[in-house]
Amino acid sequence: MNYFRYSGDTLACEDVDIERLAQKYGTPLYVYSLGTIKRHYRVFDGAFEGIDHLVCYAIKANPTLALIYLLAKMGAGADIVSKGELLLALKAGIPADRIVFSGVGKTPEEIKAALEVGILMFNVESLSELEVIADVAGRSGKKAPVSFRVNPDVDPKTHPYVATGLKTSKFGIPMGSALEAYKRAMQLPSLEIVGIDCHIGSQLINLGPIKEAMLRLKALLSELKALGTKLRYLDVGGGLGIRYDQEEPPEPSTYAETIQAALRGIESKESAKQTLILEPGRVIVGNAGILVTRVLYTKSQEGKRFVVVDAGMNDLIRPALYGSFQRIEKVKKTGAPVQKADIVGPVCESGDFFAKDREIEGVQEGDLLAIFGAGAYGVSMASNYNMRPKPAQVGVLGKGEALLSKRQTFEELIQDEVVPMALLEEKEGVQP
Ligand SMILES: *Cc1c(COP(=O)(O)O)cnc(C)c1O
Repeated sequence: MNYFRYSGDTLACEDVDIERLAQKYGTPLYVYSLGTIKRHYRVFDGAFEGIDHLVCYAIKANPTLALIYLLAKMGAGADIVSKGELLLALKAGIPADRIVFSGVGKTPEEIKAALEVGILMFNVESLSELEVIADVAGRSGKKAPVSFRVNPDVDPKTHPYVATGLKTSKFGIPMGSALEAYKRAMQLPSLEIVGIDCHIGSQLINLGPIKEAMLRLKALLSELKALGTKLRYLDVGGGLGIRYDQEEPPEPSTYAETIQAALRGIESKESAKQTLILEPGRVIVGNAGILVTRVLYTKSQEGKRFVVVDAGMNDLIRPALYGSFQRIEKVKKTGAPVQKADIVGPVCESGDFFAKDREIEGVQEGDLLAIFGAGAYGVSMASNYNMRPKPAQVGVLGKGEALLSKRQTFEELIQDEVVPMALLEEKEGVQP
């Protein structure tokens, strides 16, 4: 459910005309429906109503400050994977004790920064990382709250690049090594063991693998309790899928029921209750954003029709990286006959496409296109490849609209560069 609708034959975001936004801010342009984000958050959070839980928005899905601010106001915590995301979450007003730190390669500096502000917990992904956290905590006289990210070895049936819970994946520690890992953690006085974590992948459409992962987590949890650990947090990760094309992802309520049903029985025997932690990213923001792009040229050659637009893979890399489907529609429908075309960007790579052999209402040069489902892993993966500035971003709520980030300028693109004259204009006889 999102608030992008055609009113008559023109696309609107909530009550704001997309054509007008494109004229005002230029293209390519990310447009977000803040009402949709609020709704998604409420529905997701509401699905776990009645049980002790915390929704930690996965910042990497979309790190736009205003969006995180909005989620922070609604009570969200954050799932972070770097110091940059930590600082961003704090800046947006997310309290440190609602932040979980995930990721397979945390540096000592990042660990120190997170310890200093007092985050909720580190999701530890290896024994080596555990030792580093213990060391950093010991030196600063702190106790680091840790949980292990265990790898339940389930196949989430998603794209290989976003499947993270297989035993061949780089993430987490294998289920079979978990007990030993917890035992090691118990020996380190600068650590406090507070939880257990898993995240099996992204764009999950089937509930089966989620249920299986939960059952394995539950089995491990009772073994851990036998060791005498008191786990306060049960982090089940993120990954709930969304509809890009014909997928039929489960409703958050069904997802929540599946998790709860699989985990049922844990608390009944124990006095200590766990807080459930969820790390949704895509499901909150994915369908709340579109990328608006203008058609620069159309051309037909070798029996193929190309629509060249002003957005490229540097703005939205999902089709190039994962071969993923993005729905694309004309912002203003004209009733022109449908044509088959490749919709491609200006970047000098054959991988720079948004759609291949796509049936789309006939487009003309100058038309605006909306690329749907661009709210997650769109701007967060944007780059400056081909010296292209990152696009502007606009937020819409009801009739209101505001710039969330302006288009980068050339000056900003080169502001960190240095031309070392002495080195480049070396005199004769000086060794390079
Ligand atoms: C990417 C990621 C998420 C969010 O995944 P979505 O598919 O966007 O919900 C959550 N937790 C971890 C550890 C992640 O790496």
